[in-house]
Amino acid sequence: MKIIVAGTGYVGLVHAAVCSEYGHEVYAYDNDVNKINAFSNGQAEEIEKYVNEPGLVNIIKETLGKYLFFSTDLGAIIEGADAIFLCLPTPPNPNDGSTNLVFYDAAVEDIAEIAAKRNDENRIVFVNKSTVPIGTARHLQDIMNAHEVKNFGVSSNPEFLAEGTAVEQARKPDRVVVGCDHESDFKILRRVYSQFVNHVRIKYIETTPETAEAIKYVANTMLLTYISFWNGVGAKIGERFPNVKIDDLRLGVTSDDRISTWGSFVSNGAGGSCFGKDIASLIYQLRSVNVSTKMLEASYEVNEYQKVYLVERAIAEAGFKFNNKTVAVLGLAFKKHTNDMRDASSIKLIESLLGKGVAKVKAYDPLAIESAKHAFSPSKNILFEKIEYYETAKEAIEGSHALFISTDWEEFRGLSRTIEEAARPPYLVMDGRRMIPDFEDIVTKGYTYLAVGAMVMK
Ligand code: NAD
Repeated sequence: MKIIVAGTGYVGLVHAAVCSEYGHEVYAYDNDVNKINAFSNGQAEEIEKYVNEPGLVNIIKETLGKYLFFSTDLGAIIEGADAIFLCLPTPPNPNDGSTNLVFYDAAVEDIAEIAAKRNDENRIVFVNKSTVPIGTARHLQDIMNAHEVKNFGVSSNPEFLAEGTAVEQARKPDRVVVGCDHESDFKILRRVYSQFVNHVRIKYIETTPETAEAIKYVANTMLLTYISFWNGVGAKIGERFPNVKIDDLRLGVTSDDRISTWGSFVSNGAGGSCFGKDIASLIYQLRSVNVSTKMLEASYEVNEYQKVYLVERAIAEAGFKFNNKTVAVLGLAFKKHTNDMRDASSIKLIESLLGKGVAKVKAYDPLAIESAKHAFSPSKNILFEKIEYYETAKEAIEGSHALFISTDWEEFRGLSRTIEEAARPPYLVMDGRRMIPDFEDIVTKGYTYLAVGAMVMK
């Protein structure tokens, strides 16, 4: 099949790479010339500057120039294409949480104009991989019709990948959801995804475009609600009732096959570019059809508060005064194995610390320093001038009065020794990820340990 992937971000680049691995002729297209140049080079460093996913560089190196091509010129590659996958940004409107379709629409208008000039007569399917509100495939169809594009179909094929394991998941997804109106379009997508059709484990689900769009929102909202349940209920029980051990509580509850282990690890909230924006968008969509959204609002609010509440607990329960203090923040990316800072919990956390009068934040992340510098640009918030970046956790801790673990990088599990080497008690350890299994050792040496899901230990 000849496939075009429009938008080479996390979703588009991984989709393009994995499709090329299966022998499709794939053209990845973006309007960002720098990105396309970097990817066309096939150099690991250049690619990883934009999308850092395990296994991705290897695929690109293997298929580049054989099955995988990059371009900024859609007109030059569109002839003969069977499908165009739209992997475009769909950020939230900050005022009401609705989905901002400005970038999506701009790209689709350009694509429609070019598609209308095609010389070939074969059927082409425009496939939404972006997360878009229920009904957007219809909107896509209207734009194509307005430009008089011939012989086309529209489809919704939402993406479910999780960053950090995106390649693995694209190769072996739990399910592939394809929403189309016409059998001819289902047929084209069955050929694109032939390795998943009739698979023994992977569910290949064919439905209407609207159902496919809804599946994505309900799935992400469910996942965030489950995380919020553990943070809002499980963690609070561990923090308020003496002798309740949160890890045992979690194990006992999730031993029931009906209850997921995923999402039960209490934390300083879930970040990332999807959960928050998708639940906010679904709230907006449901309100617009007069459905009560109380439960979803609660999930959203619990998650947002979770990002800063250890700071509040440090004041209330550990008696810590943040004014003029130096705080080390370990882990900046929204989760481990990625350099993605979009909506990372560390952003709200650092804003909160600086708002409490912290004089200096000493930040460390194994992968995300460069993207963090962009996220914490003083032009976005003048207080961000007070952030300094370090190359090791130890350097960040040295000279600080307290530390906060915000991302679950494995290396933080061995942190108690580093803390002892780099900081003397009294010293406050705020553990947003419950990463220090031997915390009792440092507590007996005079350090104060405050973790999500447990009472303060000093
Ligand atoms: P991204 O911002 O990383 O990538 C979007 C790409 O689109 C960028 O490379 C940008 O340059 C390009 N683009 C923007 N306007 C364009 C235009 N007019 N023409 C051509 N290219 C254009 O976004 P992403 O994280 O890949 O997400 C894409 C979509 O997939 C979003 O709707 C998102 O909600 C959804 N999604 C993301 C994830 C995730 O984990 N990142 C997972 C599932 C679904």
